Amino acid sequence: MATHAKLSPSSAVRWLSCPAAPLMERGKPNTANSYAAEGTAAHHLADQCLSFGYSPSDKVSKVLAVSSKGIGFFKHDQPNKKDIAFEYEVDQDMADYVQEYIDLIDNIMAAAKAEGFFEQALPLESITGEKGATGTADAVLITDKEIIVIDLKYGQGNQVDAERNPQLMMYGLAALNEFDVLAEIESVRLIISQPRRQHVSEWTISADELKAWGETVSNTAKLIDSLDETSDLTDLFAPSEDACRYCKASAECKAYAEHVHRTVCADFEDLDAPLTVDDAKYDGDTLAKMFERIGLIKEWIKAVEQATVDKLYAGESVGDFKLVQSRGGRRKWLDEEQAEATLKAMRLKVDDMYNKKLISPTDAEKLKKAGTLGDIQWNKLQDLIVKPAGNPTIAPGSDKREAIITNPVEMFDDLTEA
Ligand code: SF4
Repeated sequence: MATHAKLSPSSAVRWLSCPAAPLMERGKPNTANSYAAEGTAAHHLADQCLSFGYSPSDKVSKVLAVSSKGIGFFKHDQPNKKDIAFEYEVDQDMADYVQEYIDLIDNIMAAAKAEGFFEQALPLESITGEKGATGTADAVLITDKEIIVIDLKYGQGNQVDAERNPQLMMYGLAALNEFDVLAEIESVRLIISQPRRQHVSEWTISADELKAWGETVSNTAKLIDSLDETSDLTDLFAPSEDACRYCKASAECKAYAEHVHRTVCADFEDLDAPLTVDDAKYDGDTLAKMFERIGLIKEWIKAVEQATVDKLYAGESVGDFKLVQSRGGRRKWLDEEQAEATLKAMRLKVDDMYNKKLISPTDAEKLKKAGTLGDIQWNKLQDLIVKPAGNPTIAPGSDKREAIITNPVEMFDDLTEA
């Protein structure tokens, strides 16, 4: 019988780099959150559209209900409403983002003349040794010589790239094991679609190299399988931003806490050395080393904050800290219809009662998609649309965007002329 994998592709970035993590996480509950449920809703919408040929826009205003038993479109007469953990009304934004993912798949399938399998369960037992374990790939496309694995990332937080991405490599390897008998597969293409970040990342690996990588995965899985509560994990911990971000043990992992402590306190050249403020050199190399560690420290702070909130909610004591009510959001009408009727009864002018706002280019584009604006009208609007440049942001050297060229001398000249 197929079972959800303990050594799953989605957590491979963690257990492959930190083999101590599965034992540390054992017995800790999954903490579902609204972002994860939103992602589940987007994946279900995409799957329904790809499998049954709907357009995502057809499902706008329909409610997806996420429960412990799975996900489906909400029916008002459905039993067991109490089981529902989250509900999502599909809005036009979700429909547009899912449409981008579907367009990407359609284009690749047409160009590669590929056959597509969606929400495809793939056996993992031959990779991790875990009996009956499967993982579900969002989309697997098969051609004569190539397997293409496409993963929808609905989050807009961290940008995710395909190159050497352990989750996609595991799906690719599992697909290779499953479909290699049907065709002579030479390469596996891994694609991440992250429509809310306007990001598509693609990387290709040869079938042979992927199989060789699979050997190291199997060896790590065997090592993890051999561990129990009596094992010495000291040399297996490997804290890193990617590994620790979603680790269920992150708030109580000594190795992670010590690593953050050393990172913050050390002089950024020798992590085991004591703090030597006098020697601190804030040159470019030192700043780069410090900057690289910001993500790791931020994730640790989030984990500690969440664990503190969880303990306080559970009524446990955390030193002198307590939960208090925050200032709350902006004031709003308790019942808009009642407020509107009351204001009307006060004979307020329409202009005083309502705010009128011009629609945005995004709203206009929705009108174009809905057929309210025609092609000619939409084209006329193009010259009126600008996209302001974003603020400068720091990116690693591998980022594909052009570096902003700054010239401090010219900037200085401008200031002296003013
Ligand atoms: S918090 Fe990080 S170092 Fe600790 S077990 Fe989890 S992944 Fe490993």
